[in-house]
Amino acid sequence: MRRSYKYLLRPTSKQAAALTQCLEDHRQLYNAAMEHRRTAYAKAGASIRYGEQSADLKHIRADDPGGQGRWSFSSQQATLRRLDKAFRAFFDRVRTGRTPGFPRFKGRGWFDTVEWPKDGDGCRWDSQPEHPAASYVRLQGIGHVRVHQHRPVKGRVKTISVKREGSRWYVVLSCDDVPAEPLPATGAVAGVDLGVASLVTTSDGERLANPRHLAATADRLAAAQRDLACKKRGSKRRREAVARVAALYRTVRRQRLDHAHKAALALVRDYDLIVHEDLRIANITRSASGTIDAPGRNVAAKAGLNRSILDAGWGVFLTILAHKAESAGRELIAVNPANTSRTCARCGHVAKENRLTQAEFACTACGHAAHADVNAAVNILRAGLALRQAAEAA
Ligand SMILES: [Zn+2]
Repeated sequence: MRRSYKYLLRPTSKQAAALTQCLEDHRQLYNAAMEHRRTAYAKAGASIRYGEQSADLKHIRADDPGGQGRWSFSSQQATLRRLDKAFRAFFDRVRTGRTPGFPRFKGRGWFDTVEWPKDGDGCRWDSQPEHPAASYVRLQGIGHVRVHQHRPVKGRVKTISVKREGSRWYVVLSCDDVPAEPLPATGAVAGVDLGVASLVTTSDGERLANPRHLAATADRLAAAQRDLACKKRGSKRRREAVARVAALYRTVRRQRLDHAHKAALALVRDYDLIVHEDLRIANITRSASGTIDAPGRNVAAKAGLNRSILDAGWGVFLTILAHKAESAGRELIAVNPANTSRTCARCGHVAKENRLTQAEFACTACGHAAHADVNAAVNILRAGLALRQAAEAA
């Protein structure tokens, strides 16, 4: 199993300055490599590959021994790979006819992570094992940085990343071969519906609402973004507004993660089998069936940014749920969500009219009335059980 661990770093002020410089140099490398690709694309329609940029890196380092040459070659390659990934996603979007959105330059404050792809290569976890009280990570060009290790690492450390969040620094370890910690069976199964008002609604009628503070931060973020839009480019006020937006984004991300962890943990504790919607399909059918994207309904009142902030929680949530389920030995099934919101969970009657409002479900055939999300969750569970039965029969 794979798992990641995140710990607070306690750098000395000298190390903090080096970390800032390391991040800044990686950001400049990213932007320079981006410029290279953009120019080639604009002038000749040519796409530059990762391999070429990685080869250029050798010269860049040799020409700038006190600058780019200070850092780990592998971490710089990881940054170039990150850009490569952004471009691949861009070309994928072009190919499938979606709104492409060209990869962006990373401004100050928008480049916060450096990854060392292999423990032992320009970095070393637990670099001072003989130290009686503290843990350290060694980073090339920075030194042995003290780690606040609040829980033990299990498995084998594969990659090491450093992350800046506001004024704090974190180290993130991605580990392989982490032993699973199975939970005792409960004999219970559940379907879960993912929504905006409630992140998760179960087929048992449990609703895990998106916390108010997340919605409040989303409102503040929307306001900060409107404020930013009317600031003059290059002005001091604009820089301050950018910093406010960035800080609120970090807060939203942290609150969302925290909430997703709690919701996933509750599900994994209670159920042996959890069925959820396949998001790749859901994002398409949702807009078509007009449940969450329905304009003119009460959902749309909080449209735009606010909603997209709450929406984006689903992918994060499912990723966390998958990790926890795997570790706990729980079964997870993804089902096609088509019609789950307009099918009656009691009689199976399918009609758009069954769904009265965002929250109410009332079957026009049998009269079954329920919370719309709970009704959907029951259908999702049923679809999952059918899938499992079919798989067992095959
Ligand atoms: Zn019915």
